Amino acid sequence: MQGEFGNFGNRRLPGETGTLEHGFPSGAATAPRQSGGAVDLTSLIGNTPLLRLGRITREHPGVEIYAKAEWANPGGSVKDRPALNIIREAERSGRLCHAKTLIDSTSGNTGIAYAMIAASRGYRIKLFMPANVSVERKRILRAYGAEVVYTDPLEGSDGAIRAVRALARENFGQYFYANQYDNPANWQAHYQTTASEIWQQTAGRITHFVCGLGTGGTFTGTSRRLKELRPGIRCISAQPDAAFHGLEGLKHMPTSIQPAIYDPSLAHGNIEVSTEEAYSATLRLAREEGLLAGISSGAALAAALRVAGTIERGVIVTVFSDSGNKYLSERFWDDNAK
Ligand code: PMP
Repeated sequence: MQGEFGNFGNRRLPGETGTLEHGFPSGAATAPRQSGGAVDLTSLIGNTPLLRLGRITREHPGVEIYAKAEWANPGGSVKDRPALNIIREAERSGRLCHAKTLIDSTSGNTGIAYAMIAASRGYRIKLFMPANVSVERKRILRAYGAEVVYTDPLEGSDGAIRAVRALARENFGQYFYANQYDNPANWQAHYQTTASEIWQQTAGRITHFVCGLGTGGTFTGTSRRLKELRPGIRCISAQPDAAFHGLEGLKHMPTSIQPAIYDPSLAHGNIEVSTEEAYSATLRLAREEGLLAGISSGAALAAALRVAGTIERGVIVTVFSDSGNKYLSERFWDDNAK
């Protein structure tokens, strides 16, 4: 497995052996991003803080719940990690060059990450996205100068997938089809970075990993590595409870095109979360923890709390994929219920 990702892919972790290629001491959160004063945009990707949810877990005194604050990435979401790895792998293999346009389907966050990195490297990009994604996502993509094709909202993310596949088939040589749903560089980004960070930030104490499913990249890559580091760990996936849902970025797998990178055999359990439950957990995060997180983070919290209800003691880690800023136009924030 290649460890070249940001500046922390090759650090030694508790339970790992090998050389530290970059010479950093272990401890991802404190390592310098780059020697000297200035830093490169992509070196800001990863090394996100691990937050302890102290107040929300009061009903479960023996259980600790932590979340990776993925909005701390420069593109504002967890998808900066796979987008960077996909682009780097394509550059390395020669599949992406300046004569080609990067194309992919996205529910927004991967598109924002591609758009940010592509702008900084001088690539053209064209994205396919369901027309009903939040207005904030659309405006951010416009700000980065990305070309966007909006697909039928009734077809959800699968409509965007079908549209980009058709274009890739027709004009093969003109485009680099990044294909986040099937590209192993997606899950490998999490194998190389997200899992290692969680392991270090919990000092190897994690007992349960709970994670929402979109492409399945975060769940698959992180679970695969954490299981190597701690074979007894329980990995639990979370997804919407119905085909039509309001959990932007997450997929209802039974009724969706299956991403090739998603490995359901890694899961010890799968939790279905309703849109209402996710909204209410998102509000709790803002009002009880002071964390303005996105709706899929609310879904991840709801799933983590359900796991907490089934154990006496444990250290649960989940992933908060983006912040609430991209969803402020949604009406549920006005709800007074907690
Ligand atoms: N939450 C949000 C807000 C997302 O944009 C995504 C990515 N689609 C996810 C969760 C799920 O991440 P993954 O694609 O790695 O499964």
